Amino acid sequence: MAGRILVVEDDRALRTVLVGALQSGGFEVEQAADGSTGVQALRAKTFDIVLLDIGLPFVDGWHVLSSLEGRRVPSVIMISARGDQADKVRALDMGADDYLAKPFGSDELLARIRAVLRRAQPPTQQPLVVRDLDVTVDLQSHSVLRGDQEVRLSATEYLLLAELARHQHEVMDYRTLLHRVWGPAYGDERHYLRVFIQRLRLKLEHDPAHPEVIQTVPGRGYRFGPAIKR
Ligand code: CA
Repeated sequence: MAGRILVVEDDRALRTVLVGALQSGGFEVEQAADGSTGVQALRAKTFDIVLLDIGLPFVDGWHVLSSLEGRRVPSVIMISARGDQADKVRALDMGADDYLAKPFGSDELLARIRAVLRRAQPPTQQPLVVRDLDVTVDLQSHSVLRGDQEVRLSATEYLLLAELARHQHEVMDYRTLLHRVWGPAYGDERHYLRVFIQRLRLKLEHDPAHPEVIQTVPGRGYRFGPAIKR
């Protein structure tokens, strides 16, 4: 899932590290050392993602972000020296897709980029009905059956189950599930997931203590159904 990434960062040492990490992650990378060069690059070319520092000389990251408004834009990940909650909320409110506080490792950077790219992909020919064991999730009618009995789910329970079922046999990481079900400002609230997964298991599993339909993948997330060989 490679793509084109623009890195807008004035700190030369950090920029070099970011570009190196992204290139070894298989991405095509361009760089801008200040906000106006960044804006020009965004006007001249198309990118899948822009990695945008907030603290830039002259034209800061907020201005670059607002210059994108109303145009077909790449996904935006803001990066900031301050791990400030207000910056994070402002970034997401202004349409950024994610936010990273410095310092962060290249593994985390690449994981966030892959998650943003996955979310940006248009839904492809998805099956309308997904089954595992005796559980059926009908993504068109939004109904859920266990055997031939309808299971009543709350709206959030359904959204979470549907998100997992749409990616049957794939591990869905915590952050992506929280983003998609609860909204873009969420990402660290794993306890929400624990609570709702437990509710779903009580309704769907034969033995909720040994779940088979919604499996826990330790340290990563959850999976609808077993892993399969491709
Ligand atoms: Ca900076």
